Amino acid sequence: MDDARTEEIGRNLARVRERIAAACRAAGREPDEVTLVAITKTYPAEDVARLGALGVHDVGENRDQEAAPKAAAVGAKDLRWHFVGQLQRNKCRSVVRYASVVHSVDSLRLVDALVAAAGQAERTEPLGALVQVSLDDDEHRGGAVTGMVEQVAEAIAASPALRLRGVMAVAPLDWEPGEAFARLAAIAARIRQRFPGADWISAGMSNDLETAILHGSTHVRVGSALLGNRTPLG
Ligand SMILES: *Cc1c(COP(=O)(O)O)cnc(C)c1O
Repeated sequence: MDDARTEEIGRNLARVRERIAAACRAAGREPDEVTLVAITKTYPAEDVARLGALGVHDVGENRDQEAAPKAAAVGAKDLRWHFVGQLQRNKCRSVVRYASVVHSVDSLRLVDALVAAAGQAERTEPLGALVQVSLDDDEHRGGAVTGMVEQVAEAIAASPALRLRGVMAVAPLDWEPGEAFARLAAIAARIRQRFPGADWISAGMSNDLETAILHGSTHVRVGSALLGNRTPLG
């Protein structure tokens, strides 16, 4: 696709990649240690295809109602779909059909539902799973509270249908991002001691990716900086 929108996204992508590279330099890390996951919610399947053409192979969505038709429209060729939003158990059957990895696993009941769904789906590899951590222990906004994180990680690791990849968090709105991501890094280190392969830290969005990278993020989830500001409802 060679149109004005592709050029616009291309310019945004170049800026985001430069921000990631600069943050890595500042943190003494290599840029290839950080994967850019483009969050495409509220934007059409055509934009996902444009991102793919521009070399972005990891895309993320936060609602199955929106993600399932988009994944069907764009296809899975050369794309890895990341599910990053709160996931209802009755959506698991749908999500496991297109997602490579779910970033938002936050309860034992959700683990059970994902295991059942992934076991029935014709998947060629286990579904990747990250434990979403509630950094402020506010259960309403998603994320496993302190004390549950290890239990959810253990349940994921115990299932052959799932592969424990690491941890994910969203910085609480009223927190200093540095404080939030430092706390997540400590939790990630604890999980890695038990499960050395669980080395992903999914942290950082358009506004705080530099801080997240400074604190070890391996997967930044970037939406508006790539595709534009969403309408308030999005
Ligand atoms: C929307 C969303 C993002 C991307 O946020 P931006 O501020 O647009 O970069 C990242 N993670 C999750 C869980 C989201 O829902």
